[in-house]
Amino acid sequence: MRQKQEEIQTYDTQVINTVRQEEAGTIQGAKLIQAGELVAFPTETVYGLGANGLNGDAVAKIFEAKGRPADNPLIEHISKKSDVRQLWSRMPKQAQILMDTFWPGPLTLIAPKSDIVPDEVTAGLDTVAVRLPQNKTARALIAKSGVPIAAPSANRSGRPSPTTAQHVMDDMCGRIPLILDGGPCKYGVESTVLSLVGEPTILRPGAITREMLAAVIGEVHVSNSILNPMKNGEVAASPGMKYQHYAPNAEVVVILGTPEEAAKRINALYREAEAEGKSVEIAATKQTKQYYRDKRNTVLGDRNEPETLCANLFAALREMDTRAELILAEGIPAEDEGLAYMNRLLRAAGFRVIDASKE
Ligand code: AMP
Ligand code: MG
Repeated sequence: MRQKQEEIQTYDTQVINTVRQEEAGTIQGAKLIQAGELVAFPTETVYGLGANGLNGDAVAKIFEAKGRPADNPLIEHISKKSDVRQLWSRMPKQAQILMDTFWPGPLTLIAPKSDIVPDEVTAGLDTVAVRLPQNKTARALIAKSGVPIAAPSANRSGRPSPTTAQHVMDDMCGRIPLILDGGPCKYGVESTVLSLVGEPTILRPGAITREMLAAVIGEVHVSNSILNPMKNGEVAASPGMKYQHYAPNAEVVVILGTPEEAAKRINALYREAEAEGKSVEIAATKQTKQYYRDKRNTVLGDRNEPETLCANLFAALREMDTRAELILAEGIPAEDEGLAYMNRLLRAAGFRVIDASKE
């Protein structure tokens, strides 16, 4: 249902539960994609906001609905490996083995683009990012649409990525015609983005880790911007890195150190903030919950299993944001999946970090 309201298009946003009605949901979704409309859909990483990836006008609606800066490119999602050939002008030498090892899955590969990829998708770059998702609803939607689906995460620009259909609804209600609800996302952080233009370089860390990639193709570089803020005048390897990301309204501060050091410092900061009349919440872990018994806290997962922290981070940020002005979060070692966790957490915190080991 489309209604024109001043210049902004509004919709009666429909939600279809694809756990119960996958066939009906993906048929309806594919019709909308073919008609040049937007559809939010589940993937194993986060919810995506998709449009026909070969239609520049349809893709432009994604930027409008999200309020996304026009120079931040999107990922083309495909439903079978061979579809990558129409999107890339050449196959980089490491591509085939990576596709065979990690696709379908949370790995996005960047290579030089072909002529059929609209500039709206790549934000004018001569490369394009492509992914074959694992989530079967996502793949059914793409296959039925008969085109690659260009999609970023289905949040309003700058907000934490959505890991449930309700998060998408909270951000996109009235802005898009359809949300496919496939339940909570498995990984909860966006895909690993690996550039295969020049030396293989991770532009964004995810569930497919540097160690996993290196085991297959040898040396893999990690972009400097992953754990550091961009310096003035620096050119972003991945345009998405220069924007404030994943940020709740609350102020987020990351506290580094051993669990004991971090907990001690967090307790002190909590008391100070409370004395100033601020509402505070601690993003805690299984290992440290015991230190925060008399304080408001949410346990995100296990420090030794960073994938559990990744899976809960965005949902927890959205939830804590409803009741806290200050969120105190423990940092963990930026290794394996801890790299993806720290990359997202540091951005949510705008790089506000306290090192509790340096007293
Ligand atoms: P999202 O899935 O919403 O996080 O958006 C896609 C991410 O992939 C953004 O961080 C983009 O900057 C990045 N990306 C997409 N295409 C390219 C490309 N051709 N070169 C570098 N980064 C890209
Ligand atoms: Mg995003």
